[in-house]
Amino acid sequence: MQHKFKKQFGQNFISDVNLLKAIVSDAKVDKNDQVLEIGAGGGALTKWLSQAAEKVVSYEIDLSLESQLLSLGLENVKFVFKDALKAPIEEIEKDFDGGYKLVANLPYYITSPLIFKFLSQSSKVKSLTIMVQKEVAERIVAKAGSKDFGVLSLMCQFYSNPKITRNVGKQMFFPQPKVDSALVHLEIDKKGDMPGDKFYEFVKKCFSMRRKTLINNLQGFKNLSKSEIAKKLPEFDLNLRPEDFSLEQYLLMLEKIGN
Ligand code: SAH
Repeated sequence: MQHKFKKQFGQNFISDVNLLKAIVSDAKVDKNDQVLEIGAGGGALTKWLSQAAEKVVSYEIDLSLESQLLSLGLENVKFVFKDALKAPIEEIEKDFDGGYKLVANLPYYITSPLIFKFLSQSSKVKSLTIMVQKEVAERIVAKAGSKDFGVLSLMCQFYSNPKITRNVGKQMFFPQPKVDSALVHLEIDKKGDMPGDKFYEFVKKCFSMRRKTLINNLQGFKNLSKSEIAKKLPEFDLNLRPEDFSLEQYLLMLEKIGN
């Protein structure tokens, strides 16, 4: 394959067959599944997904990979040469009959926006299995009390049950990235019926300054003063820091403040 690797598209390809098979298996893809792949690259993962799944739709931003990908002759795969972050969710999802599983080995700088896009906008995605920077994986699964716990952890856990399925060393990629990776699997499981965007605004405010107490961060939320907030949340010690409260506590707080 004669491909000029493009740094601006975060191209770090995987060729190790065991790892490619492991990604498909961690994503729990079988013949009944329709799969959305993001970042086809040279099609290494696409081939294994195509064997395992009923159907694959694979997005790739780099048009110079088109002839290579089409020459693979994968019959149950539709390649779409578009930016998956910019494509409207309705357009992406019209290719699927019902639910689908998202699988991606992606550039790291689009990890968070992509996860947010599918968690908050999709009603059809059943799970996300994504290769991310190891530090990001640790933030996604972190629990209250940990220094890694923050807005990303809360939002991922609000919409899903995230797990790290494996650590992946940087030597598994070509060209080699600077940092190690991990594969995360997020099984969709939305907690309660609070609207996600409301919860997002709230936890963003709570974590605006990590080193401040919760009450200092919350001051001004919905134009409420510190004492008004304290009155609405008598059962919480608001002098703790934002990472000291759990997802369940944040959900309860927002309900009490009135979302
Ligand atoms: N899945 C392949 C390639 C991984 S590299 C493998 O595992 O070997 C990541 C790929 O994502 C690159 O081919 C890059 O061009 C593509 N990409 C980057 N940003 C994208 C975007 N916004 N939408 C779709 N594809 C993107």
